[in-house]
Amino acid sequence: MNLQQNKDSIFRSVERIAEKSNRLKNSVKIIAVTKYVDCETARQLVNTGIQHIGENRVDKFLDKYQALKNENLTWHLIGSLQRRKVKDIINYVDYFHALDSIKLAQEIDKRAEHVIQCFLQVNISKEASKHGFQVEELDDVLSELEKLENIRLVGLMTMAPFEASHDELNQIFEATHQLQKELQKKQLKNMPFTDLSMGMSRDYPEAIANGATYVRIGTAFFE
Ligand SMILES: *Cc1c(COP(=O)(O)O)cnc(C)c1O
Repeated sequence: MNLQQNKDSIFRSVERIAEKSNRLKNSVKIIAVTKYVDCETARQLVNTGIQHIGENRVDKFLDKYQALKNENLTWHLIGSLQRRKVKDIINYVDYFHALDSIKLAQEIDKRAEHVIQCFLQVNISKEASKHGFQVEELDDVLSELEKLENIRLVGLMTMAPFEASHDELNQIFEATHQLQKELQKKQLKNMPFTDLSMGMSRDYPEAIANGATYVRIGTAFFE
């Protein structure tokens, strides 16, 4: 595993796909997901030129944060968060990608000492195992979340089923993009909905082709 080579090839690939999709090559931010590696390896990866770092679990996020907090990174919590753990972590988080319940949002709002940039997780594929709001409930959800001062909804996050085909991935990501554009048009207070967090190692090409502005990549950095 050569971290610098992997980093360079992932960044080049993301730029190439963005340009092929008629997008600006710097319109997609790459979150390096370090959940598979220890703090030392994460530090080496950061030294290759990483700005955005992501973890999916509270304990591992806090380990990495302690080790790397002086590195001027942007910190992303990408996995689901239990309400009782919000107070332990939320003030170290710049972006939270898995907002999936009103109660969780209320707890974040209560504990946060700065505005937390959040992505609403939506279950576009309707897989039973996936977290996230159903599209049909979003109107009610937004009218509750509008009341919360410390939550800013920057966009939508979705995950595609592991076994989805190329066509299914395109359908899921395209539907998420449409929904994001509809929500953006509403111009709700504290809800710009300008961003789309979608795409992982195996499906980031389809995600970028359909408007992803943040991709969350782990495995491909460490192969
Ligand atoms: C692990 C993880 C990723 C990265 O997945 P890879 O397939 O390793 O690139 C992205 N998003 C979430 C929510 C994750 O938990």
